[in-house]
Amino acid sequence: MAGRTLIRGGYVLTLDPQIGDLPGGDILIENGKIAAIARAIDVAGADIIDATNRIVLPGFVDTHRHTWQTPVRAVLPSCTLDEYFASMLGNIGTHYRAEDVYAANLVGALEALNAGITTLLDWSHVNNTPDHADEAIRGLTDSGIRAVYAHGVPVGGQWWHLSPHNHPEDIRRLRTRYFSSENQLLTLALAARAPGNTTPEVARHDWRLAREVGARISVHVGMRLTGVHVNHVLNLQQLGLMGPDTTYIHCSDSTDEELDLIAKTGGSASLAPFVEMLMGHGVPPTGRLLARGVRPSLSVDVVSSAPGDMFTQMRTALVQERILSFTHTPDIAFAPALTERDVLEFATIDGARACALDHKIGTLTPGKQADIILIRTDQVNVAPLIDPVATVVTCADTSNVDSVFVAGRAIKRHGQLVNVDMPKMVRLVETARDYLLGKSGLLPDWLNSPW
Ligand SMILES: [Zn+2]
Repeated sequence: MAGRTLIRGGYVLTLDPQIGDLPGGDILIENGKIAAIARAIDVAGADIIDATNRIVLPGFVDTHRHTWQTPVRAVLPSCTLDEYFASMLGNIGTHYRAEDVYAANLVGALEALNAGITTLLDWSHVNNTPDHADEAIRGLTDSGIRAVYAHGVPVGGQWWHLSPHNHPEDIRRLRTRYFSSENQLLTLALAARAPGNTTPEVARHDWRLAREVGARISVHVGMRLTGVHVNHVLNLQQLGLMGPDTTYIHCSDSTDEELDLIAKTGGSASLAPFVEMLMGHGVPPTGRLLARGVRPSLSVDVVSSAPGDMFTQMRTALVQERILSFTHTPDIAFAPALTERDVLEFATIDGARACALDHKIGTLTPGKQADIILIRTDQVNVAPLIDPVATVVTCADTSNVDSVFVAGRAIKRHGQLVNVDMPKMVRLVETARDYLLGKSGLLPDWLNSPW
C-alpha cells in the first residue's frame, strides 16, 4: 500500500462539487490516499495505471446487505416479504453454522468488490453463536473490502415480534477485539430491531447499548407485510430514540409524518428499490425523502432475491421515481425531477454519509482514501462514450468494471479479481448451499441427481 500510484488519462467523475469532472484527468495515490487530482500530474517513480478508455469514479457504497445469504443466491425469486420471512428467517437461517457465514461473507464481499462496491454495510442478523460473528468479520477482512459490520441478533422468530430479548451483549466483546482503531477498513454498527419488532423496553436498551459502544444504528422500518402496518419511526420518536446516528432502511410504508421526523432528526435512509418492488414492501420513497432534504443511499439487501450489484439499484431507483412524476393529464409535460447524476450520488457520496464515512470516502477528493473504480468504455455495451454519467448508470454492468482499488490497494485489475482462487470460492459457497438447503428441505431435485 505504500508508495505512489498514478491513474492516468481517464474520464474522472470526482463527484466532488469543487473539483467537478475531468475528461483526461490524472489521480495520484500516495500511501492509500488520494494525493492529487489534475489534468496532468508529473511524478517520478509512480506505478502507472493507464485509464485510457476508462471512466474513473469513487467506489460504490452498499448501505445494507445481508451478506450471509450469499450461499442461497436466488433461492427465493419473486417471493413476497411474507414468504421471505417464513423461508429465510423461519427456516434457512436457523441452520447456519459459523463456517457458512464465513463462506458467505468472503464470497459475498468479493462479489461486491467485483461489481465496484468498495464499501459494504453487512447487516448481519445471523449471530446464532458468538463464533458466527467472528467468522462474519473474518470473511469481510479476508476479502479486502471496506466494511461496516452491523452486528445483529440470532435467527429466530422470538427475536422479531415484540421480542423481550435484549440485543446480545457480545457486541461489547467485538468492539474491543476488532474495532479499537479508527484507521482500519472495518467499522462497527448495531443492526437494530425497531420497537414493534421488540418491546419498547428492549428498544430503549438496544439504542443505549449502541451509543455506549459508539456504534451507528441501522434499522429496518416501514416495510409492509400482508395486513400489517407498523409505524416503527413514530414508535422510535415516542421513545425519544431518534438521532443523526441512525440509518432507516426501506421506509416504504412510512407516513409523511415519519419521513419528516427522519429529516428533522438528521437521520439517513437506505433504499433497496429492487427488493422493495419485488417483495411488496411498498413504493420506494425516493421522491418523498428528497422533498424533505434527505438524500437516500442505495442497498442490495438480499442476493437470495436480488442481483448483488449497484447498477441494478441505480437504474431501478431512477425509473421507479420517474414514473411517479408522470402526469395523467396529457397536456402537462412529463418533468421528472430525478437524474442519472442523482442516483450516482446516492450510490456513492450519499452512501458514505449514511455510514458516517464521508470524510474518508464517497468522492474523489485529495486527502480521502483511494477507494476508486475504473469502468471501461471500449466494450460493446458501453461504446461509444458520450455522457459518462449516463454510461455508468444506464449502460454499464459488472462486466465493464475493469479495476477496483480500496485504500489504494488493487483488488481488481484488467477485469479480474487479484489473487483470488475463484474455483475455491465457488466450492466454498456450493458446500454451504448443499448443507443449508439440505437441512432446510429446499435442495432442488436437480442437485440430487447427476447431470
Ligand atoms: Zn434488509
